[in-house]
Amino acid sequence: MTLLNIKNLSVNFALPGRTVNAVQNISLNIEEGQTVALVGESGSGKSATALSILQLLPYPRATHPQGSITFKDTELLGAREDTLQKIRGRHISMIFQDPMTSLNPVLTVGEQIAETLLRHTAMNRREALQKSADLLSRVELPSPKEKLQYYPHQLSGGMRQRVMIAMALACAPRVLIADEPTTALDVLIQAQILELLENLKKETGMSILIITHDLGVVAEIAQRVLVMYAGEIVESGPAKALLKSPFHPYTKGLIASIPKLGTKKRPGARLEGIPGNIPSLDQRPSGCPFHPRCSWAMEICKTQNPQLRMIEAQRQVSCHLEPGSL
Ligand code: ADP
Ligand code: MG
Repeated sequence: MTLLNIKNLSVNFALPGRTVNAVQNISLNIEEGQTVALVGESGSGKSATALSILQLLPYPRATHPQGSITFKDTELLGAREDTLQKIRGRHISMIFQDPMTSLNPVLTVGEQIAETLLRHTAMNRREALQKSADLLSRVELPSPKEKLQYYPHQLSGGMRQRVMIAMALACAPRVLIADEPTTALDVLIQAQILELLENLKKETGMSILIITHDLGVVAEIAQRVLVMYAGEIVESGPAKALLKSPFHPYTKGLIASIPKLGTKKRPGARLEGIPGNIPSLDQRPSGCPFHPRCSWAMEICKTQNPQLRMIEAQRQVSCHLEPGSL
């Protein structure tokens, strides 16, 4: 069953004197119990997509000129605030790259998790704190009862991310959106957090939308992948098949940039497999937005933006090359 259905979503930001087309006509489905990864370099429109789901973009600077996002039968795009508040944190939860910016520095961990429970359930304070301790133990935080008294700054980055996950899971959501949840963490802790997400998914049957610039993360946990470039989906497919034989030169470049196990990549370091940078979205190149960086670019790529087309069952690509020619 499809839980979340994004259809022809576009997001524009109106800035003084110009408009940024951050997301252009993308579609994405998440089935019950599925982990879907949205992958692409920084600036490709991943967060704008994620924030659209719970309507957390800075409106009215951000606009949705078209599109639809449904959770089960509820339309979320343009929904009333009271509808959204019932869904946020209750049916769909979100975690971010930097837990420090989402956690409240002056409240204890226990107070923050309990707050979510008090808002969405009929629990009293004592029950909510008890449940908070249970949640901290589910995210494998040592001494969960004591940790309820801690303030965020007293925890390590990995522990704070576990607290965020505990908060996100408090009301047993059906969909967890994780926007670069491991990017700020070092490699060993990254692996632990991914394993935790994987275990929690098995336990709860929830669906996960994981957003990352790292295809290594995708290989670990996703069943399905969508690759985003300059606000568009350029390739999608089952994770194993896509990683084994990519159809789009950009995907191939991303795969070539997966850091080898044990090497730490400088944040923001250039992708080894792909020369150049993602274009500024208010000055997108003509034709295929990837053509200036593409080693396979042909004449047609400079003038015509290829449509996303079905290549084989469940696999789509937008590229003028014959599939299989990489
Ligand atoms: P990603 O998450 O893939 O790194 P984003 O979705 O954050 O990319 O950004 C996509 C584009 O939208 C970028 O060009 C960025 O500059 C622009 N953008 C994102 N958020 C805002 C905002 N709040 N105001 C104006 N432009 C924004
Ligand atoms: Mg982002």
